Amino acid sequence: MPDRKDKAAEMLRLKRAGRWYEQGVHFRCQAPECSQCCSGQRGEGYVWLSAEEMQNIASFLDMEFEKFTRRYIRQIDYAYSLIEKPNKDCVFLENGGCSIYDVRPTQCRTYPFWPDIMRAPEVWHREAEQCPGIGVEDAPVSAEEIDEQLEIDRAGRRRAGIE
Ligand code: SF4
Ligand code: SF4
Repeated sequence: MPDRKDKAAEMLRLKRAGRWYEQGVHFRCQAPECSQCCSGQRGEGYVWLSAEEMQNIASFLDMEFEKFTRRYIRQIDYAYSLIEKPNKDCVFLENGGCSIYDVRPTQCRTYPFWPDIMRAPEVWHREAEQCPGIGVEDAPVSAEEIDEQLEIDRAGRRRAGIE
């Protein structure tokens, strides 16, 4: 059994190697009881999406693409995000749940396994203050699963033009 000093040294080594989560982490989304990451509780945010994702949502809502973008999309520099309600909730957060769940954008699917969050254990632990799904004891997520989510997220960001 490694003592605390050994564990700290190992954590530091993995952090330096860029894969501090080698032993996996714990996470299970607490929706529908929780919807914090979709709500305005954390202030303004962006839900970036690609043209294909916009088309998917428009089709799901049975709307013309142009009408959908006029109503739900804002341009930020050269990329596009969903708009927010006046209280900063995502425009598609309804009754505590996602009203377009089946066609939600990539970043909604990959959270909290975003490169910015997974870059260091301190950031991951800080994120836990905002996401009650982080750290759920009986919900291990392996390093391989994390890497897969990170790759899906990066590909989504590239398609959305923000990376
Ligand atoms: S904040 Fe975390 S637990 Fe809550 S809905 Fe988002 S991912 Fe799920
Ligand atoms: S699209 Fe759905 S999952 Fe994504 S932020 Fe909005 S309500 Fe949440």
